[in-house]
Amino acid sequence: HVTKHFPVHGARLRRGPRPVVHAVEDVSIALHRGRITALVGESGSGKSTLARLLSQLYPITSGEIRRDGVAVKVHGGRRFRRYVRAVQLILQDPFGSFNPVARINVTLMRAVKIHHPGLSRDQRQEVIDGLLEQVNLVPPRQYTEKFPHELSGGQLQRVSIARALAADPEVFLADEPVSALDVSIRLGILNLLRRLTDERDVALLYVTHDIASARYFAESTAVMYAGELIESGPSEEVTQRAAHPYTRLLIDSAPDPSRPSDSERMADAGQPPSLIDPPSGCRFHPRCPFAVKRCTEQSPPRFELGGDHWARCWLYGDDEEAASHREHAAS
Ligand code: SF4
Ligand code: MG
Repeated sequence: HVTKHFPVHGARLRRGPRPVVHAVEDVSIALHRGRITALVGESGSGKSTLARLLSQLYPITSGEIRRDGVAVKVHGGRRFRRYVRAVQLILQDPFGSFNPVARINVTLMRAVKIHHPGLSRDQRQEVIDGLLEQVNLVPPRQYTEKFPHELSGGQLQRVSIARALAADPEVFLADEPVSALDVSIRLGILNLLRRLTDERDVALLYVTHDIASARYFAESTAVMYAGELIESGPSEEVTQRAAHPYTRLLIDSAPDPSRPSDSERMADAGQPPSLIDPPSGCRFHPRCPFAVKRCTEQSPPRFELGGDHWARCWLYGDDEEAASHREHAAS
């Protein structure tokens, strides 16, 4: 039930409580070791904020994050430090996450020293070589003496994955890990993350705007809209039998390289709402072709669709009002 509200700074136009951005609203999600979960949504949907909340980069407003069932409190001593180490964030732009004037070896030495303080310099160098081999940067010494700008985006993303591995993580939070990279090398990075998820038994949260990649890459897919999770389930179900009208819109507007104008179709279907003053009821109702009065008044709960698949949409309710809603939507 994680919620994050950011205060809006600057001029207050109206009296009353200070406005807040409802960036993440009552989101519950479970990650499992050895499994990839895709978190899909448009920019501004709150998916990056959720990943940062899970990494404890900033405190949550309400709700809690649990590791093995036990709540982790910010700055809560040893348990918190273990958590921060176990959960590693991999960002979209690898160049932004490296000191540009430090050779790769210096950055990796620091990471290894933090996580393996007892090792000698030679032992640390051995660990670094092993980490670079795990991300297919071989021979390692060809990369360690380079500066970040001397590597390609793909090579540097591999180094950032190696740095994350130094912590012996349980969870990778990968925020659009390939969208800044050349299309030709994306699959190689995704395959590397897939292999590491299996070999190192980590849980991977794959944050992406690309629902098509979720299908072949992730076991489960969760869809976020305007700060809320609106559908979740096995990727095959969510992408092939999408239940929520927004998920269907995402799939229909996924760019198809054979149709160059496709990238504009999403914009045609409307814009995501303001999160300072989100729509009442179902937050998707201003864009939804199936919206009825109930949608504008009441926020839909999760409706189970079987096999771990659920959607937050009144169309899947089990009362008479939902039945007539379905008839109306079908006509
Ligand atoms: Fe559309 Fe209503 Fe379902 Fe929201 S609850 S997605 S507005 S039909
Ligand atoms: Mg983002």
